[in-house]
Amino acid sequence: MDQFKFLKKFALKKRKKLVIALTCLGFVSVSNLVYPWLFKILIDHLVGDSSKADELNIPFLTILLTIVMILSTIFGYYTNILMQELGYRLRNDVRNEFFKSLLYKPLSFFKNEQVGGLTSRATEDIGKLQGLFTGLVAPVFQNVLFIAGCLLLMLQLNQPATGIVTVIILSAIPVIYYFSKKVKMYSAKSQREHASANAIMDETLTGIRDVKAFVLEALRLKKYSSRSGAALQEEMHSARYQAKSTQSVFIIISLLLLLIFYFGVSGISTWSPGSAAAFYFYAYSLTMAFLTLGRAYGQYNSISGATQRIVELIGDVDSYNGFLVQKNSVKIEGKIEFRNVSFGYSDEKLVLKNISFTVNNGEWFLITGPSGSGKSTIANLLLGFYEPDTGSVLLDNIGLNEIDLDLLRSNIGYVGQEAVLFEGTIRENILISGKQHGNTKLDEILKISLADSFINELPQGLNTNIAERGVTLSAGQRSRIAIARALVIDPAILILDEANSMLDEELETELWKNLYEHRKNRTTIIFSHHTDAIPKVYKHLQIPFNH
Ligand code: ADP
Repeated sequence: MDQFKFLKKFALKKRKKLVIALTCLGFVSVSNLVYPWLFKILIDHLVGDSSKADELNIPFLTILLTIVMILSTIFGYYTNILMQELGYRLRNDVRNEFFKSLLYKPLSFFKNEQVGGLTSRATEDIGKLQGLFTGLVAPVFQNVLFIAGCLLLMLQLNQPATGIVTVIILSAIPVIYYFSKKVKMYSAKSQREHASANAIMDETLTGIRDVKAFVLEALRLKKYSSRSGAALQEEMHSARYQAKSTQSVFIIISLLLLLIFYFGVSGISTWSPGSAAAFYFYAYSLTMAFLTLGRAYGQYNSISGATQRIVELIGDVDSYNGFLVQKNSVKIEGKIEFRNVSFGYSDEKLVLKNISFTVNNGEWFLITGPSGSGKSTIANLLLGFYEPDTGSVLLDNIGLNEIDLDLLRSNIGYVGQEAVLFEGTIRENILISGKQHGNTKLDEILKISLADSFINELPQGLNTNIAERGVTLSAGQRSRIAIARALVIDPAILILDEANSMLDEELETELWKNLYEHRKNRTTIIFSHHTDAIPKVYKHLQIPFNH
């Protein structure tokens, strides 16, 4: 999807409000054209050429214009608010869409992206879109209207002079265009440096324990400052071109005003004093309006660059809808079969080579193998995060590629080596999926997962708030919460991927005993490299180290 189509889709969501805002703005813009004309009447009147003023009903005109100005002020107020609102809405809508698209991207996408870079786009790039209405649509609409009005009125005052003004102003356009291109290029560069600086900060704060343990504070700071320093360099290049652009337009404006002055005084052009004054006024306002358009062009470059980067990441908005397509929604029993599965994360290296095994419903199945042999990879294939290169993974005799992945995953309780907990209370973390199948009792689950003992000791028990990423709990406590979280959905399949690694021997033995006793008809697949404490292992797959 190209960036304009993307922006249009979101920007035109509130068409009615946009039309109201532009109508109000049009009124404001046209009403601003009145002042120089009044100036003309005033001056002509003062120098004695009062015939024009006498024709007008001045008290009536003054009252009429007062009403117009009051309306213009009110409309200006509403335009302002509406344009701001449209910008905020646009930013929020695009942020939601961005987050949604990331959530539904395949896991492989995140292998190549730094999380800090993504959040930087969500804040900085999408933040720029907020200025679409106030910094681009409104100034362009207002100034184009104003320029058209100015030119029309100037033509009434003096045609040759208007011709000269137009030619000079048009000559400024290539200059503005050239400098704006440069500004755009350097802004894009600075944006990339900022994104990479943000990624460094994000990575550092996420791994703050290791950073401290290895005394890396100074090194990480140096790395961060070097990236943000590079961003500053690019921003300075951009600022220089921005300033050059503004100053060249100022030269052109000055030249223009001097020319009008020269023509006026030297008598090349003959006009009434009021007309000359009004013309001067219009010419000045006109060039100012062009200057604002130049700035709006800069804003356009910045918004279009930001949109381009966002669209690159989001992809085609219409092409995904998560996994909402219900492919096969039969009840899951829990039989799993790997048939001659080979898989590698890259083309160069196979992690799994021709693996075959079957786990029947309700079986208690152990998979072992040295570290790096591919245990987690089997779990990844089971969860449908990746597809096998050759062979197939079947669930209840149906290929995973024919099963709705949401349905599959909501029937799998997964506990990984490192339990990720989210901001909220312990209760919210356990009931995170929002479902409690059957009559599963939370108390019973807490007992099975051995989470009850430490939760009961906390003053607020289940209502204890877990700080972000669960740093206030020990690794063992977090993994017990993760086990409770997996059990609470009463899954047809429970996958425990090194879930025992954070527990001491005594707790581990008790946990396995509990899980075995309460396995009901559930298929349990245990990935582990230390297996002594695991009871009743009748079926065991040992995967070789193949790579
Ligand atoms: P285990 O769980 O047995 O320790 P893994 O399945 O995690 O092993 O990893 C098997 C191999 O695949 C390792 O060589 C690891 O480096 C590689 N690997 C694991 N995850 C990825 C990934 N997301 N991208 C690329 N390689 C990976």
